[in-house]
Amino acid sequence: MAKIAQDDIEAIVKEVLSQINGSTSSLPKVCGVVGQGDWGVFDRLDDAVSAAEKACEDISTIATREKVVRVIRRASRANARRLAEMAVDETGMGHIEDKVKKNLLVADRTPGPEILTPSAITGDAGLTLVENAPWGVIASVTPSTNPGATIINNAISMISGGNTVVFAVHPRAKRTTHEAIKTLNKAIHEELCIENLITCVKEPSIEVAQKLFTYPGIGLLVVTGGDGVVNAARKVTNKRLIAAGAGNPPVVVDETADITRAAQSIYDGASFDNNIVCCDEKEIIVVDAIADKFKQKLKDCGAVEISLNQADAIAKKVLLDYPGPSPRPNPQWVGKDASELAVVGGFSVPDSCRLLFVDAGTNFKYPFAVMEQMMPLIPILRAKDFRQALGWSLLLERGRSHSAGLHSTNINNMDTMARAVDTSLFVKNGPLIAGLGAGGEGWTTMTISTPTGEGVTNARTFVRLRRCTLVGSFRIS
Ligand code: NAD
Repeated sequence: MAKIAQDDIEAIVKEVLSQINGSTSSLPKVCGVVGQGDWGVFDRLDDAVSAAEKACEDISTIATREKVVRVIRRASRANARRLAEMAVDETGMGHIEDKVKKNLLVADRTPGPEILTPSAITGDAGLTLVENAPWGVIASVTPSTNPGATIINNAISMISGGNTVVFAVHPRAKRTTHEAIKTLNKAIHEELCIENLITCVKEPSIEVAQKLFTYPGIGLLVVTGGDGVVNAARKVTNKRLIAAGAGNPPVVVDETADITRAAQSIYDGASFDNNIVCCDEKEIIVVDAIADKFKQKLKDCGAVEISLNQADAIAKKVLLDYPGPSPRPNPQWVGKDASELAVVGGFSVPDSCRLLFVDAGTNFKYPFAVMEQMMPLIPILRAKDFRQALGWSLLLERGRSHSAGLHSTNINNMDTMARAVDTSLFVKNGPLIAGLGAGGEGWTTMTISTPTGEGVTNARTFVRLRRCTLVGSFRIS
């Protein structure tokens, strides 16, 4: 018997609808006419959503999704440096070489459709299939801190699941994000003649993101950003929400750690992309007995120790409401080089220095420890023992369920902290970015879903599970 085509299914639904209520509308559509886009960048949000919705039909087969993902990987690799340079130039944040690494990491280590294996359950009662179905159009709100990498990573993960995506991008990173979207769409069109799998609007704004929070016909909202956008989305959205929020990752170094390795890992991790990656180390808690030795090792890596007065001079320039009840980073200073921070503090460090650190003693309420600073200036706190270090790390992580690290060879301490800290990422004896597959095992993401719990997202996060049961037949043994 011939299979019924998708067009025929639409016609059948239309016919039934007209019989029920005289309506001639077909399957629910999210909106109207598709306008003229510029490689996925549209003047109107409605057109961006319509185009993405229409494009879902073009990736209905797994083979096509595999081809699309191969093209995205290739185009992303080829443009990794260009997008990295553009991001630093446009946003003034981060470090070009690290952004190149991030773009290559997501191009190579974001899983594709191959991880979406269906499952089958058979028994005396027959056969049940569990399949990974697309949501359709996904709305994804993206941050300014990883403008190229988030687009590449989300596009691979979401398209692998058979979805298309409308991005609400950060206005501060609009040029780079648009360029990433256009580059991928052009490459896909050139090789596969498919358009608009990834769309956005020309003039991004908070209002555009907020429209997507409740946009009719979209079932899944993905938000990657700080507390403001996550809370705003949570309050109003009528969709399934995957939220990847802010962190403040503590890293503990206990007296059993390999101190040389701990110092190098923390230097590499806390300075990576000038500390703007959400899982980069944001405060170091060292057991006092080894603190001086650890500080020396950190200096050997190239870090420069600054005094509390120097840190205070920097804080006055780069924080808002400092000194005050709620100091927080001034976005203008987020992601600047260590040498630029030194200059505003009235001193200088070599350009090769990627990290400043300040010894805050036992002051676990020290502003640079409490806040997610996203600058290469990290405080060291001295705890009397592992127990106190653990307590402070829980306090500073503040239940964000994001990331934390430990350097130790004591298996009990490893086990205790892994359980207690309850974060989406917990990394032992390496930089925290190793938890994203950069120097550690496992796949990568630029959307670590923290408050909503999906963790290190991949294509499996962006599908709906559907079950299809046949009663009584098709068990073959
Ligand atoms: P941000 O919160 O300022 O902006 C993120 C996005 O949300 C942007 O597109 C912005 O336009 C939009 N937005 C902001 N406020 C909004 C509101 N009230 N309503 C609707 N939309 C709104 O974040 P940022 O400064 O670009 O990025 C840094 C933050 O994102 C840090 O807190 C970092 O930890 C977090 N982040 C988290 C992850 C993760 O995977 N968990 C990844 C990257 C960044």
